Amino acid sequence: MNPPSSDPHVFLVGAGPGAAGLLTLRAAEVLARADLVVHDQLVPRRILDLANPGAEIICVRDLPGQHPEKYPHIYSLLVDRANLGQCVVRLKGGDPLVFGRGGEEAEALRAAGVAYEIVPGVTAALAASAFLDMPLTHRGYASAVALITGHELPSKPGNRIDWEALAKFPGTLAIYMGIARLPLIVAELIRFGKRPETPACVVERAGTGDMRSVTATLASLDDARRQAGLEAPGLILIGEAVTHRRDPSWFESRPLFGQRVLVTRPRHQAETMIQRLESLGAVTYHLPAVEIRPPTDPGPLDAAIRLLNNWQWIVFTSANGVDFFVNRVKHLGLDLRVFGGVKLAAIGPKTAAALRGYHLEPDTTPPSTFSSEGLAATLAPHVAGTRVLLARANRGREFLSEELSKTAVVDRVTVYDQIDAADPHHEAYGLLRRGEIRFVALSSSNVAKAVLAGFDETTNARVRRGEIELVAISPETGRAIRELGYPVAAEAERFTAEGLIDAVISLAKARPHVPHPG
Ligand code: SAH
Repeated sequence: MNPPSSDPHVFLVGAGPGAAGLLTLRAAEVLARADLVVHDQLVPRRILDLANPGAEIICVRDLPGQHPEKYPHIYSLLVDRANLGQCVVRLKGGDPLVFGRGGEEAEALRAAGVAYEIVPGVTAALAASAFLDMPLTHRGYASAVALITGHELPSKPGNRIDWEALAKFPGTLAIYMGIARLPLIVAELIRFGKRPETPACVVERAGTGDMRSVTATLASLDDARRQAGLEAPGLILIGEAVTHRRDPSWFESRPLFGQRVLVTRPRHQAETMIQRLESLGAVTYHLPAVEIRPPTDPGPLDAAIRLLNNWQWIVFTSANGVDFFVNRVKHLGLDLRVFGGVKLAAIGPKTAAALRGYHLEPDTTPPSTFSSEGLAATLAPHVAGTRVLLARANRGREFLSEELSKTAVVDRVTVYDQIDAADPHHEAYGLLRRGEIRFVALSSSNVAKAVLAGFDETTNARVRRGEIELVAISPETGRAIRELGYPVAAEAERFTAEGLIDAVISLAKARPHVPHPG
């Protein structure tokens, strides 16, 4: 049942150096329709999250045998699944054909008559070049780059690396997998005439907020690397290009470079915040603490939609509320005309933008304080003597409802259910316990309660010592955190995801990142 050769069922895909933003669009596209993803160990979860939610995800680590005995198992997995008609993505770090044995996998697929496609990725040397701000080629000093594996022992019989030729190579040397053999590599190059003072550098995790690097002369590179605590895997760069490195690079100068931040928003809302944090240089983790779903009982919402003209105002307190409401309108076979006779209030800019997304212009939004308090103050003069419908989650504060009830008739309708989803075994809790996350960005009171419920004693002690900093999106969230007995490191000034990020930036400025060794 081999698929026709025009219709590849296996994609050999480069995942790039580790940041999701450096994936190609083609890679994201095939991941989104994969039935099976077989990935190398170093591919980060953030990238695996882009896979089709129904896809089976297998890490090669979990296949039988030790490297390189795993290869026959990898080949047969790819071939068997492709023959079942599944869309198989074989995901590898960097580029699949640069020291990734992608060529051998392609050969095995050809031998089995399975059609494949190769999707290139950003290889480590190019990520290092960009993120260290160090052109590997330059008209002034380097007209060539060599990509070299440092894995082969110079003394090994049949060693195919000609260190003599490389010592004379007129350009930049980029050596992969060479950290463990660095002293040998340096000795060979110098023996064949490379100047001991040649500028050189070791970089690990290039392209991510975890990037660390050290620059030295060729002769002293291994000592410098040890002192800086850089271990394998890392890339070695040798040549004049290293002198032209900007230190710190544009990326290392970003305000959150190296900072580890836990994002706690629900899955579908986390992505933009994560992207923004990563572009600021942060290393992000995601713990979806609450999930939202259509209401268990949509009856009251349906009734409200059908009789919307009963109310003079409808008040939206989240972008989710807008989306669920409008989707339900569609579901009932109705359209935006149901809003014809009713005025619209939005709690803040995101909620207003959600309304505008449906071509609905909010009649009022608080000018600056995007909270129940701000909305109550803005809305009170407008709604006196009217009937108001609050479109909200199944749980939340009663403040707005109580305030408006002083002068208006207020009804509430549940437009979506919010449920706690923080899995106590989520890897984020382990990272917190081990002190590997500094900032926990808490984006609502309910999120804060759900996240903090999973903290153990070790994590609590870290919070008390200020090693973990809890950052609240608003004073309301801050209050919820304090009520649970935790200190609040900062509260956002603007009660939006951007405001939350700004609060993290201020804390990072006050106490800059000190990279922890190893
Ligand atoms: N196919 C990969 C390379 C696989 S070999 C690519 O194209 O990048 C694994 C080696 O790649 C590591 O030992 C290290 O030398 C290098 N490497 C991979 N990702 C890296 C990164 N983000 N920063 C620095 N070196 C990296």
